[in-house]
Amino acid sequence: MDLHAFLDDDPRQVWALDRVTGESVYLEDGDAQPMRPRTRSDLRCPYPDCVGAITTVGGEKRHHFRHLTDTTHPGGPESLHHVEAKFMVADWFRRSAGVARVQVESAVAGTDRRADVLVEPLDGRPLAVEVEYKSFTIEAALAKRADYESAGVDCLWLLGHSRVQAWPDESGRVQLPRFAAVLVEDGARVLVANPSTREIGTLGDHANVDARYAGEHTTARISIAPLAQCWHETATANRFIGTPADLRHDATSRELAAQRAAQPPTHRPGFDWPRQQPLPRREGVDEQARRESSKAAAEVDAFEVPEAWKTAIFASCVEGRPNWAVFTWSDITRAVARTGTRAAGPWSSAEFEGVRAWLEVLESDGWIFVVSPKEFAASGKQRPAVQGQLFQTNSVTS
Ligand SMILES: [Zn+2]
Repeated sequence: MDLHAFLDDDPRQVWALDRVTGESVYLEDGDAQPMRPRTRSDLRCPYPDCVGAITTVGGEKRHHFRHLTDTTHPGGPESLHHVEAKFMVADWFRRSAGVARVQVESAVAGTDRRADVLVEPLDGRPLAVEVEYKSFTIEAALAKRADYESAGVDCLWLLGHSRVQAWPDESGRVQLPRFAAVLVEDGARVLVANPSTREIGTLGDHANVDARYAGEHTTARISIAPLAQCWHETATANRFIGTPADLRHDATSRELAAQRAAQPPTHRPGFDWPRQQPLPRREGVDEQARRESSKAAAEVDAFEVPEAWKTAIFASCVEGRPNWAVFTWSDITRAVARTGTRAAGPWSSAEFEGVRAWLEVLESDGWIFVVSPKEFAASGKQRPAVQGQLFQTNSVTS
């Protein structure tokens, strides 16, 4: 595949329509001579309302269709590619066995929109194909998507090849218009179309062409394939045109999912632990204890456990340790002392309660169990007597 050939904004006309059947006809490079008689007798320009007779032009350059008389179309080459892409994709969907009807420039029932191509499958929701060669605001793109969605119509976005630019560093990365990134992030299917070469570009991650592009950057890598190698996907609700790159993206997703499943949960202390309130105190404590307790609770709110502590405690007491390994408060305070972020001396009740609250988060997330020494002794496992609570690791987490 040649990225620059794919992105090249070639202004030559290579699509025509059969006057009788309405069929879209592509002129292969080198076919000017054999196609000339049919072109002159049966074919017409695909521009709406253009009645000028056309012929074929050969020679050294890309063979193409040309009008026999001076004819100008409104809109320039962008408009030519837009017209050609519509007929290319309409022609392609018409060849699918699962399609009942394909219309170019068709009003979409339930909206005040006209789809560039409206595909009505034998079974399932209609599909509006939008070919975008002009600049488009994010708001307009999302509004169009929402309108189709509320009318029960699927939407496939074909980004015009001249809207995509290669990065000058020859890295193979391309720059996408912002609305395309936002649409992908919103879950839309966006492909790049080139009607001159009859190829489809599938967007990949900016760092890995074999991973799916998810819209988080406006740079992407692109896999180019002939449209003839793509297939109509009716089973997958959001693809519509399946491409060879999709199969590689699927494989990458499966590998990543398998890797994730083999690893502990991705969240680590110090990143996104939700802060939880300490558990309610036991009932029956006297007035003095209750006052101290509420004072401690107030201090807990004021004390944020430093991220360095969480990371150190997790690394030395929980992560990678065997299931049912036991650790105690002295293991925790030693781990914190080793971080060098705390002055020596006894822990304040605020520090104690803060860490305890965070340990309860670990417990609620399934990392550890908090057990009392009495319960532990009853379990029959040997353990020297210690003060306070014990903590058991529970490596069997989701
Ligand atoms: Zn014309």
